[in-house]
Amino acid sequence: MFAFCTFFGIIPSFKTNAQESANFCGTYYSIGDVAFIEAHIAGTYRNFSQRMAASGGTIEIPVQIHIACPSNDPVSCFPETAIDNAINVLNALYANVPMHFYECADRNYIYETAGVVNNNNLSEFTLCSPHDVAGVVNIYFVDKIFPNPPSTSTPLGYAPTTPQVGADRIFIARRTITDDIVLYPDLILVHEMAHFFGVYHTHGSGVPGATDELVNGSNCNIAGDEICDTPADPANMAFFVTHITDEYCEYPATLSPYCCDANGENYSPLSNNIMFAYYCVYGTFNAFTDGQYSRIWDGYYGFRSYLSDAGNLAMRDNWYDVGQEPNYTANDLLEWEDIWVSPDLWNCIDDPNCTEHQDPEYKASGGSNYLRVRITNRGCSPTPEGRKLHLYWTRARTGETWIYHWLHTPLNQTTNGHPLGHMITSNPSDPLQAIPLDIPPLNPEETIVITQPWQAPNPQWYDGDDGFSVGASPMLCFLARITGEIATSPSSIEGEENNIAVGYNVKASNNIVTRNCALTDLDPLNLNNTPRSIIIENINNQLTLTDVHLTDITRNTPNPFTNYGSIYLLLDEQLWNNWQASGGQSAGLTYTEYDRTLRVTDAQEATLYDIPFESGEQRQIAVRFELATASGKKPEILPAQTQHYSFYLWHSSTLPAEEEMLKGGGIFEVAIHPRPLDAISLTALPVACHPNPIQGNMPAQIQFTMLQSAPIRVDIYDINGKQISCITPSQTYQKGTHLLALNPQDLPLKSGMYFCRITTPQGYGGCKIAVAR
Ligand SMILES: [Zn+2]
Repeated sequence: MFAFCTFFGIIPSFKTNAQESANFCGTYYSIGDVAFIEAHIAGTYRNFSQRMAASGGTIEIPVQIHIACPSNDPVSCFPETAIDNAINVLNALYANVPMHFYECADRNYIYETAGVVNNNNLSEFTLCSPHDVAGVVNIYFVDKIFPNPPSTSTPLGYAPTTPQVGADRIFIARRTITDDIVLYPDLILVHEMAHFFGVYHTHGSGVPGATDELVNGSNCNIAGDEICDTPADPANMAFFVTHITDEYCEYPATLSPYCCDANGENYSPLSNNIMFAYYCVYGTFNAFTDGQYSRIWDGYYGFRSYLSDAGNLAMRDNWYDVGQEPNYTANDLLEWEDIWVSPDLWNCIDDPNCTEHQDPEYKASGGSNYLRVRITNRGCSPTPEGRKLHLYWTRARTGETWIYHWLHTPLNQTTNGHPLGHMITSNPSDPLQAIPLDIPPLNPEETIVITQPWQAPNPQWYDGDDGFSVGASPMLCFLARITGEIATSPSSIEGEENNIAVGYNVKASNNIVTRNCALTDLDPLNLNNTPRSIIIENINNQLTLTDVHLTDITRNTPNPFTNYGSIYLLLDEQLWNNWQASGGQSAGLTYTEYDRTLRVTDAQEATLYDIPFESGEQRQIAVRFELATASGKKPEILPAQTQHYSFYLWHSSTLPAEEEMLKGGGIFEVAIHPRPLDAISLTALPVACHPNPIQGNMPAQIQFTMLQSAPIRVDIYDINGKQISCITPSQTYQKGTHLLALNPQDLPLKSGMYFCRITTPQGYGGCKIAVAR
């Protein structure tokens, strides 16, 4: 048999170098891959008519073709004619399954890419993640596939063998790594597509050169390729290389002297099977057996039946998430990226069209904030009618559980009946009755932003109620989820119907996103002094001893936060008492002069040990960041650029069920600017308090300078950010310097350090007030 003599019209190869090593298939099966495939393939062999009857007809498979070219020159790209031919050959052969492949969108050209590294997720991720279409087979026609580990043998194609929902790929190379052009994508595509549906090489799932299948066929259904009409094949590489260098590519009917199996019998493999481990363009490796067709059919129904081009509505968990799941980090596939700062979910205080997140503000007048959600169709076809958007908020915790913490129920409110969570898109008269928002049909890659007015909770609900007494700015967590997808859609993995925790859902599906934020920024003048609080809750149905941890999860920052400032934990009264009563053990923390306040001495991890929590008990804890070191000194050197820090507040106990819940919120973020915020604001609007300190009941006043005529508001806070009083003079103040007398009832009753802030339409000003009673 000579080259080019094939019934399905392989395009002649341009291969000219007979010294070239074998061009092989780079598909590799891990133990986990094999376990997955075997668990999902029924292994019931049927002939063609039986398959037709069982499936009800031809299986339609959507594909998206990507053509990755090493330069901007179209000559460097895989030629369209070769791709056309490959699709035609694929459909001619797979009609026997019966299966039909169609391109669900235009071919996607990617220029200036070096190729892809075989079986290297990171390389694949870099090339493919911006381009993958969810729910379809993404076929990448690349320039080269680099062997991994490096070798002179060239993989010309490979297919990740188990589902990567949203990232189902096949790779086909145009050139070897020694630059020989080897255009036979039809052979490679037909072969790799069979891997994609669970068909092994004829020798089996292991490396070539040996097989555990016996020549007599007695173990044919559990050994080798686990298919009985493909006889045992040792896939002897030495034999193959000898023959291809002779430009013959004929697998002999009898492999003598390459004997023998465990019984001493000579192998007698098929000489034309397309699942031989090497691509053999000069031979007639062009046929599947009926057993292989049946296994493709079984593979589709076993683990690939989610393939569909019915659109895919996606939101991103973080800025690096490209809309597919799981959303690996850009640098490390073993890590997840942050999931509490979705760029596709944000709040606007006043302007319903704002494009940057603003921490929500409680409006005593009953006015609205606006929650905004950006949704993109990452699929191959328009999305149908009937998709819905649901929105929620909850008081941030060290572990929100779905769905309990996101609804206003008698179990999820303060003792005074104030909600600790709420469905935003709900009927106000019946908080448990969801009124989701409609998502209109979107074309592929089309994006929509949906805006929903909502009323932020009153921060004072969470101060004093239930023994909460840290007086801090409460942290909220938003959640948006899309429903209405078909059950197997990439957008439908999560769901309360499956009782899966939110943390898992957020990571494993692109139809659910969250964002953590402070409810209100009580004191923007002294941002670093504003504590923000979250709830710790024992969600177990028994008393637990709980450890509370603050862990530095800051990335990519040259200097730790403690080079510039201090971190304090503030415990509510009951939490403090419970901790003290159980021994008051801690690590990385030290007592301070302030009530129920500890300073962090080990910012990598600070821990409070063995705090008893009754079942369902909720306690409040706050974190305060201060731009002053432990000795009270302001840092002399500030970073040249703004530095962002993240700290994770979480809890643990000895109960194993807790682990899943720890994937919830509790993230505290703080930034250090080259110039302190208070310095910027103070120079913008000069304010001074007289006298200072205020002693006894002496009259006090605030001196301030207006840049323009305007009304003002004066707020006084304690050192924890808790508001003491709010003064709103009826008069408008002209440009210039003024004195405002403070009434005794506006002043703090207790001695201590307080902050005064004046707010005008032009900006803020502030000063410290020391009170000595
Ligand atoms: Zn292969």
